[in-house]
Amino acid sequence: MNIILLGAPGAGKGTQATKLVDKYQIPHISTGDIFRYNIKNQTPIGVVAKSYIDKGQLVPDEVTVEIVKQRLNEKDVEVGYLLDGFPRNIFQAEELDKFATIDKVIDISVNLDKLLKRITGRRVCSKCGESYHVDTLNGVTTCSRCGADLIQRADDNEATVEKRLTVYKEQTAPLIDYYKKAGKLVTVDGDKAIDEVFNSIVEILG
Ligand code: AMP
Repeated sequence: MNIILLGAPGAGKGTQATKLVDKYQIPHISTGDIFRYNIKNQTPIGVVAKSYIDKGQLVPDEVTVEIVKQRLNEKDVEVGYLLDGFPRNIFQAEELDKFATIDKVIDISVNLDKLLKRITGRRVCSKCGESYHVDTLNGVTTCSRCGADLIQRADDNEATVEKRLTVYKEQTAPLIDYYKKAGKLVTVDGDKAIDEVFNSIVEILG
């Protein structure tokens, strides 16, 4: 099964993706994670990506589409895969249609007004990427999964998040209609608890 997880920044795509790939044992392909890996390792792609990510803008399509195209050529995706954070606009979706067959698109729908608080309070594990929120951490600063330090993502500050939300509304949200027309879209209520959202997705995927 080839799946796309769609949703605004902070909707919980990463959290659900981690749980889904655990359950279905398929590769998790997150363009955001790929860019962060490249930034950490100071690769040429990382240098380009950082200049856009820091401003809350999308990394240019020609860079992003090529990365996904190459990733989907690898052998491990034969069992299916979960795309998280790609496509982010109609152009990317049209390009993806040229080299991949998507079975289902899961839109994690959330109240956009609550997202600013949700994202600026987010802390992520510096090693495994697990997500937390300061409201439920009670001062804990390490990951309960792997013990590494929790950090705030560089692009999770208020100004960048506002820009990312604008980019989402203008460029990514139109994908909801794109995949509805293609008969592939299913929507889950992302304002529910993490496990409830997960169970809804599992029910859909069967
Ligand atoms: P994410 O981890 O999915 O929130 O992505 C973090 C940042 O990486 C985004 O704000 C974009 O700047 C960049 N990015 C991730 N995925 C894409 C994509 N499909 N197209 C362009 N830029 C992307």
